[in-house]
Amino acid sequence: MLDDIRRVPKVLLHDHLDGGLRAETIVELARESDYGRLPTGDPDNLREWFEEASDSGSLERYLETFDHTVAVMQTRESLVRVAAECAQDLADDGVVYAEVRFAPEQHTTRGLSLDQVVEAVLDGFAQGSRGPGGQPRIRVGTLLTAMRHQARSREIAELAVRYRDGGVVGFDIAGAEAGYPPTRHLDAFEYLQRENAHFTIHAGEAFGLPSIWQAIQWCGADRLGHGVRIIDDISVAGDGSAKLGRLAAYVRDKRIPLEMCPTSNLQTGAATSIAEHPIGLLRRLHFRVTVNTDNRLMSSTTLALEFHKLVQAFGYGWDDLQWFTVNAMKSAFIPFDERLALINGVIKPGFAQIKWQS
Ligand SMILES: [Zn+2]
Repeated sequence: MLDDIRRVPKVLLHDHLDGGLRAETIVELARESDYGRLPTGDPDNLREWFEEASDSGSLERYLETFDHTVAVMQTRESLVRVAAECAQDLADDGVVYAEVRFAPEQHTTRGLSLDQVVEAVLDGFAQGSRGPGGQPRIRVGTLLTAMRHQARSREIAELAVRYRDGGVVGFDIAGAEAGYPPTRHLDAFEYLQRENAHFTIHAGEAFGLPSIWQAIQWCGADRLGHGVRIIDDISVAGDGSAKLGRLAAYVRDKRIPLEMCPTSNLQTGAATSIAEHPIGLLRRLHFRVTVNTDNRLMSSTTLALEFHKLVQAFGYGWDDLQWFTVNAMKSAFIPFDERLALINGVIKPGFAQIKWQS
């Protein structure tokens, strides 16, 4: 079934550019830029190292893996290459629309300006989105991320607005949740709202309901990155019936999209197994759940693999996978008519074909 899942048109809303590099590329870029701190120069060993460090259960070790990927993404050439390969890899996995995020402020150590960083990544996505004959294979929208522990969110929000007609479709904040509540960046979110711009916030991954509540009710987030802890506001009785608290009910009733990343959540301890991942309950309760990869390198995953794991854990069929996919497309930050065109012209026909064949 995995091969068929790869073939159906899929939509990805939560994927980090610095978490999805090819191991071979990291080794080559490290050599070209004289970066000598990689744990190994062998791509296979490096791939394993990333997976092991991310599986360790230690957030410090998990975050350390990004030191290496970010270190080799400090020049225009490397950013173009990484972005182009990201678009190609997603297209090879059957993703037809993706929103990929990265933090421009992390790519300026060798002298690039924030604008140059953004332009390099946009160029890379444009290159990688075309097939050998120049035909488009995938559409990639860019999200600009500000780091929660830094104080540059307003500047990055302005950057996102400046490039909104050039391929940047939204804004995000990421990084350690505890101690850095989203309200710390209220200025940036209020600016984005005044500019009629879209944004998502990493919230409710490691940290609980207050983080989700702030992201929605104080900051005005359009979507929630992860949002798994929303289950803390849901009580399930012995007969399986569920009672939603006010915040959970608000999230469900307002159709606030949850960008769930099952494998990544296991690695960071936000869930204990795929079978016990809140996605099962949230899907059953008709929250607007979407399925995502987060960091493909660290989790050695792809969107097709994430779907496959859910199929194995919950017995999902094509109708469920289509529901997740349409949810994601509805929740994208591109104009409504363009979302609708992808749903009716690409996603539904793609799933109809696979259902007819199987
Ligand atoms: Zn993330």
